[in-house]
Amino acid sequence: MKSLSIEELKLKADDIRQDIIKMLEAAGSGHSAGPLGLADIFTALYFDILKHDPKKPDWDERDILLLSNGHTVPVLYAALAESGYLPVSELVTLRKFGSRLQGHPERLRLPGLETTSGPLGSGLSQACGMALAMRMDKIMHRWIYVVMGDGELNEGNVWEAAMLASKYKLSNIIGIIDRNNIQIDGPTETVMPLEDLKAKWEAFGWHVIEIDGNDIEAVIDAAAMARAIVEKPIVIIAHTVPGMGVDFMEYDFHWHGIPPDHEQAKLALKELRTLRGKIESEAD
Ligand SMILES: [Mg+2]
Repeated sequence: MKSLSIEELKLKADDIRQDIIKMLEAAGSGHSAGPLGLADIFTALYFDILKHDPKKPDWDERDILLLSNGHTVPVLYAALAESGYLPVSELVTLRKFGSRLQGHPERLRLPGLETTSGPLGSGLSQACGMALAMRMDKIMHRWIYVVMGDGELNEGNVWEAAMLASKYKLSNIIGIIDRNNIQIDGPTETVMPLEDLKAKWEAFGWHVIEIDGNDIEAVIDAAAMARAIVEKPIVIIAHTVPGMGVDFMEYDFHWHGIPPDHEQAKLALKELRTLRGKIESEAD
């Protein structure tokens, strides 16, 4: 895939955010805050970091992207559509009966989906299985990226997988934690405190990189750094703003699991179009 400039990537992230708003409004249900906060990470992944080919979704040299926090799938569908796996016009079928775009990803419905997800906490275990299988086949040049929510880390099996990945030095696993500090019932530190999160992963034997997950350049740099580590599995703690780009959604956990109505979507799209204009004028 041809590489894009940082300005082009920022515009792509804005497109993805607009797609997310349109999809969720049309669906009338779904999750807003997480997908908007993850738009920069998914832009970096699909338009720079991942080795993949939308024309050959099953290419056996591709990198693997696992969306463990499956409820944030609108951002994945939008990134897949913007990179050519499906028509952008299909995005508004999100959550409709018979649609390929279910509310949580179903692997067999849509090319480009590597796993079915939704039950939280499974992605890292699946990554461990894939990494061990690749090692048996002597494949060392493919990376497995696992996106996880921070609230998802409440699930005990994440930490079982963390121990196993460390034991077997599965250094082709790169975890990305969406550290947006919210989960469905409130702030993460109120529901089940996660800090000191960096120290926890380090204690489990992981190499930790901490970044601003809404800075596309920082995401790309962190992934490059992660690929250079060979002794340990790597986790990127990506600090993001939930609802990023839409003022009335930012930082508010109530937007974790609800969609915008028609008026709210209009407001959100207006704000995102203004942001788009700003990015364009800064690039001139
Ligand atoms: Mg969260």
